[in-house]
Amino acid sequence: MEKAKIVVVGGGPAGIATAVEAKAAGIEPVIVLEKEERPCHTIQKYYHKGKRVDAVWQGQEVKPEGICRFETCTKEEFLELMEKYIKDYKIDLRTNQEVYKIEKTNDCFRVWAGKDTVIEAPIVVIAIGIFGKPVKPRYRIPKEVKDKVFFGTQTQCMLGAQKILVVGGGDSAAETACFLCDEAEIYLSYRRPQFFRINEQNLKELEKRVKAGKVKLLMNTDIESLSATPENKVKVRFKDGQEMVFDAVYYCLGGATPDNFLRAIGVEMEDNRPKVDEYFETNIPGLFLVGDLVFEKGSIMAAFNSAHQVVKGIKERYQERLERGC
Ligand SMILES: Cc1cc2nc3c(=O)[nH]c(=O)nc-3n(C[C@H](O)[C@H](O)[C@H](O)COP(=O)(O)OP(=O)(O)OC[C@H]3O[C@@H](n4cnc5c(N)ncnc54)[C@H](O)[C@@H]3O)c2cc1C
Repeated sequence: MEKAKIVVVGGGPAGIATAVEAKAAGIEPVIVLEKEERPCHTIQKYYHKGKRVDAVWQGQEVKPEGICRFETCTKEEFLELMEKYIKDYKIDLRTNQEVYKIEKTNDCFRVWAGKDTVIEAPIVVIAIGIFGKPVKPRYRIPKEVKDKVFFGTQTQCMLGAQKILVVGGGDSAAETACFLCDEAEIYLSYRRPQFFRINEQNLKELEKRVKAGKVKLLMNTDIESLSATPENKVKVRFKDGQEMVFDAVYYCLGGATPDNFLRAIGVEMEDNRPKVDEYFETNIPGLFLVGDLVFEKGSIMAAFNSAHQVVKGIKERYQERLERGC
């Protein structure tokens, strides 16, 4: 069986930064297992072409603490930067390796991934993010409209859609509305009277489109239900009794903690969030979480910093275990 000192599960910004920090701290071998064909799948899939990757996200300015850092740039430049970290630090990144089981026996973890990968290590860091599980509304989505309802940020407009409702009040809802408004008439529904967690740049961009009449804001609106119209469109009923018809509805409500994955390993949860200490270590000694998994409002810079903190914790608490290995 293959052995490593640290297995990192997930090759997004947090996973790559963890491997970079660990290598810089002299820890070897470190293996990163990524389920998709390329690293940074969330960014590859959910960021549209040319998207501005903001260093300040969800209204939070996070000062860089570790090795990995970036300044506002495009999606393509950011992905290049991550490739450079992988190359410069000779990160052992294994793609097409979806981790499906992690078990602790005695003092070591066994990690199962892909078709036949099993790796043993004293330390495991989970960096799988939250975007594999987009937040969905509480009301039922009728099956007749399912092909016109999208969850999580999309990078393409539904073919033929002329009137679209975007639901959400964060940066990704604002970006989706701005991105789609060149293709269709956009309405943005948010349940609060004002935006309060959109970054300055996104707010500016949104206001520009609102002024130009390309995006219409439906502030203080809460959806009660969706249904199909005889013309095969989506009828949206709001809680104030108002009804509107759209060709498509895009929910941009963020992601949810992959609690089933974490519970199956034995990670203790509190209010559906994993319980971690100051070094992001879980109740299972040697099992750490990084990135979006540990923040209520995650961002790339926060993911980078959490990787720095986790490796600091690993060195402080497990130096002897690392030397001994499995
Ligand atoms: C549309 C959109 C726009 C955004 N824009 C910004 C922005 O401008 N600035 C900013 O700071 N933040 C932005 N964010 C948030 C940012 O993308 C996240 O905070 C960041 O990606 C978190 O990094 P992570 O490594 O924790 O998780 P992720 O980036 O989600 O990476 C998780 C990785 O783990 C892999 N994985 C999942 N399950 C498994 C498994 N079982 N086995 C192996 N691998 C697995 C995934 O394929 C993925 O590559 C945006 C998010 C979205 C959705």
